[in-house]
Amino acid sequence: MAHIATITIAATNKQIPVPTGLFINNEFVPSVEDSPEKILAINPATEEVICPVVSASPRDIDVAVKAARQAFQTTWGKNVTGFERSRLINKLADLIERDQQELAELETLNNGKPVKIARDFDIGDTIQCLRYYAGWADKIIGQSLEVDNKTKLAFTRNDPIGVCGQIIPWNYPINMWAWKVAPALAVGCTIVMKPSELTPLTALKLSELVREAGFPPGVVNTVPSYGHVGGAALAAHPDVDKVAFTGSTVTGRKIMEAAAKSNLKKVSLELGGKSPHLIFESADLEQAASWAALGICYNTGQDCTAGSRVYVQEPIYDRFIDLLTAKVKATIMGDGFDEISTGGPIISKGQYDRVWAYIEAGKQEGAKPILGGVKRTGKGFFVDPTIFTDIHRDMKIVKEEIFGPVLSVGKFKTESEAISLANETNYGLGAGVHSSDANQCMRVSSSLEAGTVWVNQYNLLSNNVPFGGKKQSGIGRELGSHALAEYTSVKAVHWNFGEKVD
Ligand code: NAD
Repeated sequence: MAHIATITIAATNKQIPVPTGLFINNEFVPSVEDSPEKILAINPATEEVICPVVSASPRDIDVAVKAARQAFQTTWGKNVTGFERSRLINKLADLIERDQQELAELETLNNGKPVKIARDFDIGDTIQCLRYYAGWADKIIGQSLEVDNKTKLAFTRNDPIGVCGQIIPWNYPINMWAWKVAPALAVGCTIVMKPSELTPLTALKLSELVREAGFPPGVVNTVPSYGHVGGAALAAHPDVDKVAFTGSTVTGRKIMEAAAKSNLKKVSLELGGKSPHLIFESADLEQAASWAALGICYNTGQDCTAGSRVYVQEPIYDRFIDLLTAKVKATIMGDGFDEISTGGPIISKGQYDRVWAYIEAGKQEGAKPILGGVKRTGKGFFVDPTIFTDIHRDMKIVKEEIFGPVLSVGKFKTESEAISLANETNYGLGAGVHSSDANQCMRVSSSLEAGTVWVNQYNLLSNNVPFGGKKQSGIGRELGSHALAEYTSVKAVHWNFGEKVD
């Protein structure tokens, strides 16, 4: 198999060469297996195969881990200054900026999201994320600490933790890549990155840019593979020092178990959610409806922080429902290459069937679909936004993460009822509070069990603000200075400059 596929994007009539091998030691290489597994990259808007990609076996993962270990001990890790790491990360950001249109089109082809959103938001944020962590690379500082008398001092160093396995999902393939790669590189770790089997192409394309930027061989290795094969091998590998994972809670449990059973590697998990919006009667209802609509429609609801439960105070319920329905209706789920699309298809047939099973369960359990809930005909895994009212806390659509544009709307009378409805979940990723009463916003936001609370807005993140979950939504934090701690190991040095023992 040649390791470059030339992909034609019908909508733009452009040809894009895409590497299809495993990226190890700065080369695109075949699998070590005689008859390796293949991954077929699919366009979810047309259901057409884009190209096959090599799928890493556990033995390939081992080769990649060895390359990462070698680089950590020689050309990277403690052998390169923060200034140099910063320069290289900035260079990578420049190259991504140069190629942003092509990367956006490739992202749309394999993921389905609109090109404009991929370019301006996902890739725009990626470039900023890399530059943000490039800024940190030469500022990884420890502490000096006074200890018990005048003859002793202690200091700490934040050492790079070592070889990091990074396992990412398909909903923001480029963005999730940056959130993981940027802080790890900034502190001096080396990486074995496993993109989702559903969206391997942009991670491979980014690997070309890693090489062009001048990173030494083995610093970033990219190994597309199926989760239960390459992902499981990475999580269980005895020479991986840390695994950073974004994906479902079910898989998160397996990763933790594999880490525990192998070498007790450090684990960080960004998992699922069932995030609530609380709409209080004093809220600017037009604005609250817009944020709630965005919360469930953005990225076609395939968002870990999708605001999939909305609770509205009774006196404003009817008016809010009208506003919300109008805003959600304005979303156009279409081909990402079509300029009028504001959302794309669901990623795969499997996810499409899963979302439909939830819609059917909602109907069967007695919820009322007031928008959507009707299947389209034709090609592509499209699901129109669906709103259910008349919900009950025991319904599947209220309890479980759907990962599609399906919203459940309920009512509440009092603030304390709203808080308890919002917290009635095993998840704790995001939550929205909409009210014009500042004291109420403060009270409610401090009572919500979530890693992120948005007040009078929703879903906006910033590279310098930590992000992560409580409860079963995860462990650890990405973004901001908090992410640096996920990739470092604190070493304390106790220094005696006078005291003698007999
Ligand atoms: P998933 O858990 O099926 O897959 C995520 C990644 O894990 C993929 O790369 C997959 O190949 C890999 N994987 C699967 N099984 C594995 C195993 N046994 N061992 C190791 N790796 C394995 O999730 P998904 O369907 O790709 O993504 C959707 C989920 O991700 C949703 O639940 C969503 O909430 C969550 N998510 C969370 C965040 C966050 O920041 N909290 C962000 C995006 C998505």
